Amino acid sequence: MITVYMSEYLINLKILLSFWDIIRRRDFTLGKTVRELEGKLASYCGAKYAIGVGNATDALILSLKACGIGPGDEVITSAVGFFSTAGAITWVNAKPVFVDANLETSNIDVSKIEPAITPRTKAILPVHLNGRIADMEPILAIAKKHGLFVITDAAQAIGSKYKGKPVGEWGDFVCLSFGYSKILETYGDGGMIFTNRSELAEKVWPLRTYGARSWAEIHTNNKVVGVASRLNSFQAAVLLEKLKYTEARIQKQRQHYLLYRELLKGAGDVKFLRDDADYYLNGYRLPVLTEQRGALRDFLLRKGKKVYNWYPVPLPRLPAFQNLEYKKGDFPNAERIAAECLILPTHFSIPKKKIAQIANLVRLFYQV
Ligand SMILES: *Cc1c(COP(=O)(O)O)cnc(C)c1O
Repeated sequence: MITVYMSEYLINLKILLSFWDIIRRRDFTLGKTVRELEGKLASYCGAKYAIGVGNATDALILSLKACGIGPGDEVITSAVGFFSTAGAITWVNAKPVFVDANLETSNIDVSKIEPAITPRTKAILPVHLNGRIADMEPILAIAKKHGLFVITDAAQAIGSKYKGKPVGEWGDFVCLSFGYSKILETYGDGGMIFTNRSELAEKVWPLRTYGARSWAEIHTNNKVVGVASRLNSFQAAVLLEKLKYTEARIQKQRQHYLLYRELLKGAGDVKFLRDDADYYLNGYRLPVLTEQRGALRDFLLRKGKKVYNWYPVPLPRLPAFQNLEYKKGDFPNAERIAAECLILPTHFSIPKKKIAQIANLVRLFYQV
């Protein structure tokens, strides 16, 4: 377990040394370091192919493109999540069709997917929020029945499992983020696309390098219109070093997650995500729902605890999506999550004692 506590200072020092090797080899773009990381993450996350890209938003955009999704198409996604899902769908000129989230999971409500399908629907784009994988078995069954692609936003779900299988196995495309505050984090931006289908990997590869299949062909054989969105070698080197500690950190965060659940049983009206043996959570975030969210948050902040509201505005009500003309009340669960969800800190660096202190403060809040 010593690796969990290995100081950031030492890790950063090792990363700096690996930078020198990249500079010496002038291996800046899609070279050995990126290939090594792609291989390691593919096997960690259970995917056959891994394609390193600039960030998770690009991963979503390029995946949608690789599925041939564009103007006139519709993509079904959850009303609760980060901007990038609906943003990517809009960026390829398709239409995001929101469905409400399930209050017990904070993920897309599977029962609302089929009624939202129209002849224009091309894909379902679920988000694995808070490291809890969406209900992928029924989602994949619906997709199969209607001939739809499934692209998942797995930005928060590295190391998570569903029905014993890792996140990279669930969906046609699986998009990871290494951006700010993620469990496996670069010194900036980074993302990765996983797929288990060779024909889809073939489609997405050229999209990250000017439409050419390889670096050698970028002046001669641009077969499609691609962009320049590649995982940078330096960022890959950061990730290769941090990946060594990722599983230990996830174990630590899971312990914190489980400790809160135990210590906060029956505290006020606090509700956790549904506990279910099929879902193995990476402990990335611990969301709780409470009608007293505002007061509880202020109380904990006053006591110096870092807690925050999570997605305080449901996606359909963000200014960028106003043209879709959704109204207040269209997504009651999304509204409720926006109003009642509070994130308790689970970071691996927090000692167990502090987690217990925070839990005690929460209990105290409801007692007075
Ligand atoms: C962080 C995050 C993204 C965006 O990732 P980038 O790599 O910054 O583009 C997308 N979706 C979810 C759920 C996220 O948490």
